[in-house]
Amino acid sequence: MGQSTGKIQRETIVFINASLMMVLEFGLMANKNSKEFMDFANSINDKIKVELSNKTCKEECEVCDIERHEEKIILGDKTFNLKKNIHGCQLVNLIYGLHCEKCNHYVYVGETERSLNERIKEHLADIRHDRDTAVQNNFNQEDHCKEDITVQVLQQIYDKSANYRRYIEAQWMQKLNTIRPFGINVKKE
Ligand SMILES: [Zn+2]
Ligand SMILES: [Zn+2]
Repeated sequence: MGQSTGKIQRETIVFINASLMMVLEFGLMANKNSKEFMDFANSINDKIKVELSNKTCKEECEVCDIERHEEKIILGDKTFNLKKNIHGCQLVNLIYGLHCEKCNHYVYVGETERSLNERIKEHLADIRHDRDTAVQNNFNQEDHCKEDITVQVLQQIYDKSANYRRYIEAQWMQKLNTIRPFGINVKKE
């Protein structure tokens, strides 16, 4: 009996979360630029928990090797505080920043639904194989080298909406000034 109550509760929670997500998605379409709406969405976002990966990385890992563990980012007269303990290459559904040692600042902000490990390995492979991407073009410049790249998790996102993730990504691009020509992000839209 206790078991079936638990099941009903779980199903109810899943249903409520799905309903909130629909409200969120609809609101993003209808009120793209409304600050009030985004504050509302943020408050919902904190309540919706997706299944986050708890795996840790055991072996030698090229992504963990280049991961930064910053608690705040200072840019000019602005300080952006980061939540503690958002590092580890197995984290999923997040916004990350790529820092360039030569340029001495964050040059790129990206988002991924997958793990940091998977996404960053793609960037590293692009650099290694000279694939024509914004990230590769920066780190393969003549005065640069591939060791100049490090990565910081900027924010983990607690819902699965791609629109919401991209909205937060765009905010970070603004904050860290990574849009061309200061950084290497290409402005969307
Ligand atoms: Zn790792
Ligand atoms: Zn650079």
